Amino acid sequence: MKVLWIGLIALISLIGCEVLEETDITREADFMEEKRGTVFHEKTPLSLSSDEDVDKNVAEYDEENELYVVSNPDEVDVYVNKKRRLPEGYEPDDLVAPDVEHLSPEGDNRRLLREEAADALEDLFSEALDAGHNLIAVSGYRSEDRQRTLYNSYVEQHGQEEADRFSARPGTSEHQTGLAMDISAASVSFGLEEAFSGTNEGEWVKDNAHHFGYVIRYPEGKTDITGYVYEPWHLRYVGEELATHLYTESLTLEEYFGYHY
Ligand SMILES: [Zn+2]
Repeated sequence: MKVLWIGLIALISLIGCEVLEETDITREADFMEEKRGTVFHEKTPLSLSSDEDVDKNVAEYDEENELYVVSNPDEVDVYVNKKRRLPEGYEPDDLVAPDVEHLSPEGDNRRLLREEAADALEDLFSEALDAGHNLIAVSGYRSEDRQRTLYNSYVEQHGQEEADRFSARPGTSEHQTGLAMDISAASVSFGLEEAFSGTNEGEWVKDNAHHFGYVIRYPEGKTDITGYVYEPWHLRYVGEELATHLYTESLTLEEYFGYHY
């Protein structure tokens, strides 16, 4: 763990001015997520079970980046991962800051979510509080430009191959949909770490998020399917019906849609 933190601090120092303006905790949180999220990056094409699947909510194939471009970025069940990206420059047009406790400063983009997801997060946080659990929103919306800035700075410093090992390519982050929020609690010092799952807050979220339309998008034991390590802090809004189905059947979006990343 100590070695990891030393490495982390060394890499953070290379990122540049854009992130240096941010608070230490959220800066580290963003970095950790990117690093964890791409450990399993591969260059093989999306695994598709039939020609029909190729067309499933896919507008085109981005040959340069070897990514499928989704055709439904505004749907709450939009499905992106390391092989499926949002259209170039996609920005949700209904971003708002949910009225919950945030780690990022006022006015920061990371406070933002699409309106429907923001309303649902307010309900989730409020119900959690009633049950005695104080949650905090750490990192929500992330623009493609911001992701590109981060990714390019990594490429500049480390080369593309190395950068791909710990940073998501622009267009492929769920945070760009405006439907994902990383959350945490004081009991884990507001960090984005697996230990959150073992806290009272994390347990409550795991058991109740679906009632509010949220799922833990990268569950434990599904790394081979999602391409992401367990992220108990990454909540993704998909709507109550789908969230309840995914929760009840223990499915990821990859399994639900019938093909892996
Ligand atoms: Zn996240």
